[in-house]
Amino acid sequence: MIINQDKCVACGNCVAVCPMSAIYVDPVKNRANINDEACVECGTCFRGMSTENLNPTITRSIRKIAKTFRFRFEPEPDVCPTSAIEMNELEMPRLIRQIFSDPVVEHKSTGIKGRGTEEVKTNDVRLRVDTDEVGYTIEFGRPGVGVKFSDIEVMTKTFARIGVKFEKNNPVTHLLADETTGEIRKDILDEKILSAIVEIKTDINMVEKVLSTVREVNLQIDTVTAIGISTRCDDNGEDLVLSNLLEKLGYPNFRAKTNMGLGRITNTIDLTKKEGQIK
Ligand code: SF4
Ligand code: SF4
Repeated sequence: MIINQDKCVACGNCVAVCPMSAIYVDPVKNRANINDEACVECGTCFRGMSTENLNPTITRSIRKIAKTFRFRFEPEPDVCPTSAIEMNELEMPRLIRQIFSDPVVEHKSTGIKGRGTEEVKTNDVRLRVDTDEVGYTIEFGRPGVGVKFSDIEVMTKTFARIGVKFEKNNPVTHLLADETTGEIRKDILDEKILSAIVEIKTDINMVEKVLSTVREVNLQIDTVTAIGISTRCDDNGEDLVLSNLLEKLGYPNFRAKTNMGLGRITNTIDLTKKEGQIK
């Protein structure tokens, strides 16, 4: 993202819009600018503001005169009065920032707009995580915090060492240079994004190990993490294994979400096993 220095009139409206506090008004140049290191190319400043096409030179002059007479000539707070914010062509590795941070940009690897896979929401019909298995989503970063791929790599390398399975269609998995070591492509390690989700799966015996790993690694990296954990309910719609285990490990839990299988029916083998069910 860039701010066209010929157009900007330094009204400062865009400063509050940026979730990464990457925009500042340079008091010497009297123009807004973007800190490229902090900007994650999320597009919020570009899309989130209305634009007007006021003439920058005239607008600056009016603002200057207005200041002399101690009154203000300010645009509405959600407007860039001179359409000075411009989206520039990005190339790899910087492009990866936009792919992970701009919600309207599709991940080419998964074909999904968003950071994870849709299967995690349709497990009842896709059977990615079975009754004796546990699926995890480990989310890195938040608006205002962000995350670098080098920090995500600390987690993926540790996961690879303890022997978890990375979800094949997850966008971060597609960026692993080597799934057996958890190494991420070197060219993107320095890139910062708004957030990302690593999706993994283990058998039920590894829950304690995975949770303690996330806890330990979280203390070593410069971001915040949140973990989601899921399993498949038994035939009675109950989860008597994972919830009990989590309670034992000191994680009081309640059922946060039940997916009712409103997706494609792909587990026909399972369904035909049962009398009276769809064939
Ligand atoms: S693209 Fe996003 S992070 Fe970059 S300056 Fe605009 S709002 Fe801030
Ligand atoms: S809103 Fe537009 S004119 Fe105002 S400071 Fe930002 S880029 Fe410059």
